[in-house]
Amino acid sequence: MDTNEKFEGKIIIFTAPSGSGKTTIVRHLLHKYAFLGFSVSATNRPKREKEVDGKDYYFLNEEKFRRKVEEGAFVEWEEVYPGKFYGTLKVEIERIWSKRKHVIFDIEVKGATNIKKLFPDNSLAIFVRPPSIAELRKRLLGRQTESDEMLLKRLARAEEEMTYENTFDKVLINDLLEVALEEAEQFVESFCII
Ligand code: 5GP
Repeated sequence: MDTNEKFEGKIIIFTAPSGSGKTTIVRHLLHKYAFLGFSVSATNRPKREKEVDGKDYYFLNEEKFRRKVEEGAFVEWEEVYPGKFYGTLKVEIERIWSKRKHVIFDIEVKGATNIKKLFPDNSLAIFVRPPSIAELRKRLLGRQTESDEMLLKRLARAEEEMTYENTFDKVLINDLLEVALEEAEQFVESFCII
C-alpha cells in the first residue's frame, strides 16, 4: 500500500441482542479481512476462561472503569447489566485508524446507536438478529458461560433489544450461519472497498 495515500478511516458496527451470533460473525470478518481492526472494549465483567485481556476486552475493576469515565476517556459506555459496565475508549479508534485499518465493533444496541450518531458519515451499522425470539432463547440457554441468574438477565435484555431492529443501516438475519457470513462479507466489501 502507498503509505502517502490519504486514509479515510471507516467504522463498521455489528450490534445485536446477546445470543444472535454477532461475535462469531465479527471474528470471521476479522480473520478474513486484514484491513479490519477490532475495537477492544473495556469492561468490569469477569473474564471468561478463553478470553485474553487486551484482545477480547480490557478487563478493569469497577474503580478503574469509573476513573476512566471521570477522565472522559470513553467515546461511549453503558451499564449493560446491573453493575457490569462496558465502554469504548477514545484511544481505541485512533489506535486502529493509525494502523490504516477500518474499525469493527461488537457492541450492544445503545452503544451502537451512540457510535452511529457520532460518526454518521463514515459508519455502517448492521443489526444481527436470530430468526425468532424462540430461537434466541434456545441459543442463549445453550450457553455454558453464564450463571442461571445472568442468563435470565441476558434473555430479558435480548428480547427488549430485538425491538431496535429498524433503527440501523442494515439487518442481517442469522439463521444459517454460512449464509449470514456471506451476507456480512458483502456488506463489508461494498462499504470498505469502493
Ligand atoms: P459480553 O459480556 O457477552 O461479552 O457482552 C455483553 C454485551 O455488551 C454484548 O452485546 C456486547 O456487544 C456489548 N459490548 C461490548 N463492548 C461494548 C462497549 O464498548 N460498549 C457497549 N455499549 N456495549 C459493549
